[in-house]
Amino acid sequence: MPSEPTLQHDFSLRDLNTFGIDARARHYVRITAAHQLAALLGEPRLAALPRLVLGGGSNLLLTGDFDGLVLHMASSGREIVGASGEHVLVRAQAGENWHGFVEWTLAQGLGGLENLALIPGTVGAAPIQNIGAYGMETRDVFHSLTAFDPATGTLANLDGAACRFAYRDSLFKHAAGRGLIIVDVTFALPREWRPNLRYAELATELDNALASARTGEGVAEPTPRQVADAVIAIRRRKLPDPAVIGNAGSFFKNPVVSAQQCAALLERHPALVHHRQDDGSVKLAAGWLIDQCGWKGRNLGPAGVYPKQALVLVNNGGASGADVQRLAQAIQADVLDRYGVRLEPEPVFV
Ligand SMILES: Cc1cc2nc3c(=O)[nH]c(=O)nc-3n(C[C@H](O)[C@H](O)[C@H](O)COP(=O)(O)OP(=O)(O)OC[C@H]3O[C@@H](n4cnc5c(N)ncnc54)[C@H](O)[C@@H]3O)c2cc1C
Repeated sequence: MPSEPTLQHDFSLRDLNTFGIDARARHYVRITAAHQLAALLGEPRLAALPRLVLGGGSNLLLTGDFDGLVLHMASSGREIVGASGEHVLVRAQAGENWHGFVEWTLAQGLGGLENLALIPGTVGAAPIQNIGAYGMETRDVFHSLTAFDPATGTLANLDGAACRFAYRDSLFKHAAGRGLIIVDVTFALPREWRPNLRYAELATELDNALASARTGEGVAEPTPRQVADAVIAIRRRKLPDPAVIGNAGSFFKNPVVSAQQCAALLERHPALVHHRQDDGSVKLAAGWLIDQCGWKGRNLGPAGVYPKQALVLVNNGGASGADVQRLAQAIQADVLDRYGVRLEPEPVFV
């Protein structure tokens, strides 16, 4: 059983957020087991403090010091827990590294998570914004999760419907679920795996990789491992490694507009990058809009826009949360002015 956690004070969060912002927490505690939450938050003095649940800090913008209690989710453990119909159920504790978990499922011979390989952060945070990449989202393979409710001191089991997943969104980003702390997540992975190659860039990457590896006759079906490797190769090429340059991945969500608004925009901007959705709405490429406004590769003070991907804002060294916020606001203003489209940030501002 893990020992009781130690409360620390005036704690630096610089190494715990991928932007590398040098902010401090008034109180900090590292949680290594779910039962510690009930013990800690059972103390009225601690329960009354403003709270930040922290995973890998890869989807956060710390805009200043945090005058409250940081609960750093660092619980570990992953296991195959059973089967449900055509699926194998796998569970991981909230503090498990997401990519490490994806690699572990592949090593068990289980496909299903490979398109989400190399996304930074923890398993516990994956449902929060329903992480997605390369044609799939968490909800496609989600089974259920366990959440601790500090208001009642109890654990609850939530299925996919209860989590209300949507594009980069879930129950946990809204008033009804914002206070919940996810302690473990269970995924349903298919016994009969088929590659998801809807995303054209991934299909091409995989084709090229398989073509150069092919020696004999015939075309073999790709394996989950090969799909994961293709995803990893694309991501390494396109995205900055937070260990080298501070960032939180895509800084803005791709805006969704009505078909009418898209048609009006296309009249004025025929090259507009857009993707029609099943519900009739249209998703625009935020990176393209930012690039068109001339922001790609530009800096504003110590914060900047990554030269290879306009959707990624970076800390060029010593940027504060306010510096990044200033840059984000300048970009939002330009895109709104030129296209009439409001860009919404993806990271959580703290
Ligand atoms: C280089 C890079 C690439 C990225 N690529 C992608 C991508 O392709 N797709 C994508 O969707 N995202 C991407 N992201 C964003 C990020 O990796 C994900 O959102 C990830 O799930 C965040 O996990 P985290 O543990 O770091 O969460 P944190 O940043 O620590 O927290 C994010 C939010 O979740 C809450 N939270 C964290 N853990 C818990 C918990 N256990 N219970 C309750 N609330 C919790 C926090 O309070 C906060 O509100 C990328 C980020 C980077 C830096």
